[in-house]
Amino acid sequence: MAKRKTIPQSIRFEVFKRDLFTCQYCGRKAPEAILEVDHIIPVSKGGDNSMENLVSACRECNGGKSNKKLSELSEVEKSRRQLEDLQEKKNMTDMILQWKSGLNDSLTYQVEQIEQTFYSNSPSINECFGEKYKKLLKKSIRTYGFDLVLDAVYVALETYDTDTREQRNNALSKIIGIAHNRHIEMSDPERASLNKVMHVACKNLSMRPKDFYQAFPTNLYKSEQEKLILDAILAAGSQWKFEEIINQIYFGGNNG
Ligand SMILES: [Zn+2]
Repeated sequence: MAKRKTIPQSIRFEVFKRDLFTCQYCGRKAPEAILEVDHIIPVSKGGDNSMENLVSACRECNGGKSNKKLSELSEVEKSRRQLEDLQEKKNMTDMILQWKSGLNDSLTYQVEQIEQTFYSNSPSINECFGEKYKKLLKKSIRTYGFDLVLDAVYVALETYDTDTREQRNNALSKIIGIAHNRHIEMSDPERASLNKVMHVACKNLSMRPKDFYQAFPTNLYKSEQEKLILDAILAAGSQWKFEEIINQIYFGGNNG
């Protein structure tokens, strides 16, 4: 039988990173699960070591090293296996540590890029993000992705004035919220639409979000009603009038 070509450590690392150190078959994560790299098309059938053909699989899902059960092995073989497993777990932990510190490096780099983008578009010198703000940005990048946060920077720069330091700080304070809203828009258009209606109502009718959610039948709302409801808000001019119109729309005017 032809000996399987071993996969270089660097490629294994890339595969694990891409798969977030998670078995792609059962979802278990390293280091609890010992991960191996599985060929999607087996080498025996012409599969190669390209990233597209490789996937992270835990030892159990990958069929294990040997078909023999632990109970069928000799004591010496058993303890040898256990030592190997320990070593393998340690390797996994090391790789995860390396991955996480790499992630942090790239997050730091991405925050620097956002900082440069922000200040290169506004007439400021010697200003930089505070540590607290950098931390918030990193968290947002992890949650929403770099591209979305960078988009939010451009939206903030287009939407808000950045002539004075105070204005710049105000624009900065909006970026994460913008990214958050974009994220919702992309992942849940219905919720995004409701969010928009809520914001317009709060702004135009001096309502608190809490008031809005008490007055509005969110479970009946559909995003295709957005224009209707926005018009109602603008026409109402006050919270009680808005509640009356909403009642009319959703319940035909019967209270309760
Ligand atoms: Zn698995």
